[in-house]
Amino acid sequence: MIAFVGIGANLGDARGNVVDALARLGAQPGCRLAAASRLWRTAPVDSSGDDYINAVAQLDTSLDAHALLAALQAIELQHGRERPYRNAPRTLDLDLLLYGDETITTADLAVPHPRMHERAFVLAPLLEIAPDAVIPGLGRAAGFLPSVAGQAIARLD
Ligand code: ADP
Ligand code: MG
Repeated sequence: MIAFVGIGANLGDARGNVVDALARLGAQPGCRLAAASRLWRTAPVDSSGDDYINAVAQLDTSLDAHALLAALQAIELQHGRERPYRNAPRTLDLDLLLYGDETITTADLAVPHPRMHERAFVLAPLLEIAPDAVIPGLGRAAGFLPSVAGQAIARLD
């Protein structure tokens, strides 16, 4: 199964945390890192603190969606993530954006990620590695770029 994971960090060594998360994703049992976007810098959306560093990873995985979510949460915890309040600044946030063309709606997992099409920091890195990505139920991811054009985002090189 092809899955896309959104990675964000804005505390501590945010850039280092994102790079480390990419390596840890690729090292998960049952996961292969098929592609990684470059790093992007964005102002916080619905959050606070420093700018975020964001990236998107494409995984080739044999894990089911819930097992993959558990793996993402384990990596977050390895980075000492705490959740003092909703949308708090975070050392590392890993979101399951897309899991093949599946739509999943359970108490602890919503796929496609319900807000991904509203966020330039998801769409820009996703489209970098998957220009033809489709969001189940919504259509081509590229079709949402114009509506997020006002969000400040820049690619790091
Ligand atoms: P944010 O929405 O800002 O990423 P959190 O990372 O704190 O906020 O939210 C984590 C919670 O969201 C987890 O408890 C997880 O069960 C739930 N969740 C629902 N859908 C997803 C998804 N697609 N990817 C990651 N977490 C999800
Ligand atoms: Mg999250």
